[in-house]
Amino acid sequence: MEAPLERSDSPHLFSGSTLDGYTSGVWHASALLADRVKAVRQPYSGAGVAELQDQVDTVDLDQPLGDTGAALHEVARLYLDNAIWFHEPTYVAHLNCPVAIPALSAEVLISAVNSSVDTWDQSSAGTLIERRLIDWTAGRIGFGPGADGIFTSGGTQSNLQGLLLAREETLAGPAGDRATAIPKLRIFATTESHFSVSKSAGILGLAADAVVGVATDGTGRMDPEALAAAIDDVRRDGGIPMAVVATAGTTDLGRIDPVDAIAAVCESRGIWFHVDAAYGCGLLVSRRRNLLDGIERADSVTVDFHKSYFQPVSSSAIVVRRGETMRRIAVHADYLNPRTAAVPNQVDKSLQTTRRFDALKLWMTLRTMGAEQIGAMFDAVIDRAHEVYLEICDDPDFEAVAAPTLSTVLFRYRPAGTTVAECDDLMPRLRQRLFHGGRAIVAGTTLGGHYWLKFTLLNPNATMDDLRSVLDLIRGIGAEMTGERDGAAAVMA
Ligand SMILES: *Cc1c(COP(=O)(O)O)cnc(C)c1O
Repeated sequence: MEAPLERSDSPHLFSGSTLDGYTSGVWHASALLADRVKAVRQPYSGAGVAELQDQVDTVDLDQPLGDTGAALHEVARLYLDNAIWFHEPTYVAHLNCPVAIPALSAEVLISAVNSSVDTWDQSSAGTLIERRLIDWTAGRIGFGPGADGIFTSGGTQSNLQGLLLAREETLAGPAGDRATAIPKLRIFATTESHFSVSKSAGILGLAADAVVGVATDGTGRMDPEALAAAIDDVRRDGGIPMAVVATAGTTDLGRIDPVDAIAAVCESRGIWFHVDAAYGCGLLVSRRRNLLDGIERADSVTVDFHKSYFQPVSSSAIVVRRGETMRRIAVHADYLNPRTAAVPNQVDKSLQTTRRFDALKLWMTLRTMGAEQIGAMFDAVIDRAHEVYLEICDDPDFEAVAAPTLSTVLFRYRPAGTTVAECDDLMPRLRQRLFHGGRAIVAGTTLGGHYWLKFTLLNPNATMDDLRSVLDLIRGIGAEMTGERDGAAAVMA
């Protein structure tokens, strides 16, 4: 008898005969990461761009090291030693969260199995798992059984898709032919809405002035009466209202537009209602669920699990109340998802084709921790934001903008005798110096023409002492920079 042929699979490709290399490669990566993270004491090394540019440029990409371990060690130096660490409690800059370990276990499976949730024959049960999570999210929103949706790469793509569906729904109505209607389409949003709304308008081929800014009340929330008036004005001038975008958790102030009242305006005027809950979606599982009352009246909702559900990037979804509205964007290809397909093909509903099975991360997180724990963690960071806001109000060296709704706090260092103009000059430079120190990272933004520092809290492990230490760092740098300025002024005089 002939001996069976020996297989000699490439040692670097994942297969049943390379599992030793696979397990050692994954084990090495996680061990190296653990080793580095154990030594991390601050969110950043403080390295400057030039220094890192130099290190990255020195690598000769045409001279491979031949060994995963060696490549990992190089990457540890190039990347891990200078990464920005979101789990560090003094990282309080953007909407980045520490990530749930069950989701990291899922990542191991997602990348090696490498399913693509575009067609059934590339994903099978993966498609069903994603669909269950969309149904679950729709249930939390309060949508009925006709709801549908799809996982996306992030809130930006979710907003784009929500507005694409709005455009198609509007054009399917009595808007007239596409070519003459598209330049007349208008989207209503406040200036606090995310910049992906105006980006989307551009991608969708709308006019340069397609996004109509709706007035806000004194706290930065959309004014529903001003919305109604703006819609009626646009109609009177021959424009075609296409969508209203309410933000549930604005990026700077965390404000939640009055969703229920806006829904009533949209319903009475027959306009698509999109809720951008990229940030505020964590409320769906929190004890503050009431802040989203009326969201069940939306036509489409953006949720970013990679913001308030402690998921690694990417994990986001667009969820729609009437699933049939997604069919308008379905495109069929004989080689992929023929019209006659008898199996569920997610690509029919997605802007992407090949698509990661990111849904498994949320699945693992829900099956391990449950929704209540996620909600409690989001509630904890909101509680902490209120607490730190009160401390800032009590501190004579600082000023805060307004009480937070979610987990952001805008403030500035302004000790007695400092003018607002001096503050506006000092704050951005102070933020830079803080960043280069590496011990804490805060964000910055402008509001009402003035520069503010911003805490975005998404780490439930950050204590008040951690946040006080950031305020003290800012105070120290602020005093130092004010001293330098006064010193320079004295020399000049
Ligand atoms: C972050 C954010 C987005 C964009 O989401 P990405 O996941 O970064 O693409 C959209 N809207 C709001 C309100 C956000 O906070």
